[in-house]
Amino acid sequence: MNMFSALRAPREIVFGAGQRACLARIARQLGERVLVCTDARFAAEPVFAELMASLKDAGMAVEIEAGVLPDVPVQSCVASAERVRGFAPDVVVGIGGGSCIDHAKCVAILLAHGGEPQDYYGEFKVPGPVLPIIAVPTTAGTGSEVTPVAVLSDAERIMKVGISSPHIIPTAALCDPDLTASCPKSLTAIAGADALTHAIEAFSATRRVASAGMAQERVFIGKSAITDHFARLAIQTIFSSLERACTHGDDIEAREQVMLGALMAGLAFGTAGTAAAHAIQYPIGAVTHTAHGEGVACVLPYVMRFNLEADPEPLAEIGRMLGLPGSDEIALGNAAADAVARLFSAIGIPPTLEALGLPRDKLEWVGTQALGVSRLIDNNPRRIDAPAMAALLQAAYS
Ligand code: NAD
Repeated sequence: MNMFSALRAPREIVFGAGQRACLARIARQLGERVLVCTDARFAAEPVFAELMASLKDAGMAVEIEAGVLPDVPVQSCVASAERVRGFAPDVVVGIGGGSCIDHAKCVAILLAHGGEPQDYYGEFKVPGPVLPIIAVPTTAGTGSEVTPVAVLSDAERIMKVGISSPHIIPTAALCDPDLTASCPKSLTAIAGADALTHAIEAFSATRRVASAGMAQERVFIGKSAITDHFARLAIQTIFSSLERACTHGDDIEAREQVMLGALMAGLAFGTAGTAAAHAIQYPIGAVTHTAHGEGVACVLPYVMRFNLEADPEPLAEIGRMLGLPGSDEIALGNAAADAVARLFSAIGIPPTLEALGLPRDKLEWVGTQALGVSRLIDNNPRRIDAPAMAALLQAAYS
C-alpha cells in the first residue's frame, strides 16, 4: 500500500448528549445572520424553539426554512435560496435527518455561487467556498454532517442526483444523540443500516487517486489507512449497538453508539467513497420509492459475497473484527456477509430485492442504470460488467 492518505472533514466536530447547547456559540463564531433549514416535524418540537431562542440570545438574526422535504426535491432548494437571498445569511444551519442537512448544503451553494443546482451535479463542480454550514443530525445514519455530498431529487431525472465537493463539507458537525431519541424503530433501523453499509463499502473500496483539477496536484480521495481507521471503528460500534437501539429505543447508550458509528462511517466514506451497493440502490430507489438506507442494506450482503472473489482481505478482516472463527479468508468473508445479513434481518431490512418490492422485469433496467453510476462502480473492488451485474442482481432477487 502506498502512503497517499487524506481525510476530508469538518473543522469542528462536537459529539455528546446535550451538546446541542453548543449551537449558538459555534454559529456566532461564523456569522451574525443565520438561516436554519429544517422540516415541519422538527420545527414543531420544543427543543427546536429552545435552539432558536439560544441563537437569538447570542445576538443573531435568524431566518427559518421549515419546509424541507424528504429526498430534497431540487426545486425546494431553489425556492429556499430565492426566498432568503434578501435576508443575506452568512451561515446556514441544517437540523434534521440527512434531507435537512443536504437541503442546507444545496442552499449554501446557491447563495454563494448562484446558477442552478444542475450546474453542480457530479464531482468537483462547485467552484469555491460556500456559506459556512453547521450540520445538526437528528437521525443516526447518513453521515451527511461530515461528508462532501448532497443527495437531491430532480423531477427531470429518473434517479436521484448527487453534488460532491469538498466545499460543501459542513464547517461544524454538532451531534447530539438525544435528538435521535424520538426516531421510531424503522427509522433507527434504516438509518443505522445505511451507516453500516457506508462503513463496509468504504472499508472494502478500491484505492484511487483523483485529480481535483489543480495543475500538478494529485488529490488522494480514496480508501486509505486514515479512512480504514474510521471504518473499523464504525463497523465495530454499529454492530455492537444497532439491534439494541432498534429493540430498546429508550436505550440512550445504544443510540449514542449508533450515532457515533454513523459519524465515523461518514468520515470514512466522505473520503473513501461508497461502491456497488450504493450504485444499485439509485435505480432501485427510483422504482420502489423505498428509503435509501433500506435499499443499500438489502443488497449489501450480496455485494460482499460478490466482491470476495476479487479481494477477500478486507471482508475477512471484518469477520475477524466481529469475532468470527476460522482463518480461511474466503470463509471468513462469507461469514461476515452472513453476519451482516443476520443483523439486517433482525432489524427488519427486507432480505431480497423481491421483498423490497422490485418487480422482476425491472432487473435488467436496474443493472444498466447501476452500471452507469461509474463514480461508484469504479470504486468497487471487483470489476463489474453487464453479465456480472445480472448475476449479482439475480442472486439478490429471491
Ligand atoms: P430523512 O432526513 O429523509 O428523514 C426521513 C423522515 O424521518 C422525515 O419524515 C423526518 O422528519 C423524520 N425524522 C428525522 N429525524 C427524526 C427524529 N429524530 N425523530 C422522528 N422522526 C425523524 O432521513 P435520513 O435517513 O436521515 O436521510 C435520508 C436522505 O439522506 C436521503 O435523501 C439520502 O439519499 C440522503 N443521504 C445523504 C448522504 C450524504 O452524505 N449527504 C448520505 C446518505 C444518504
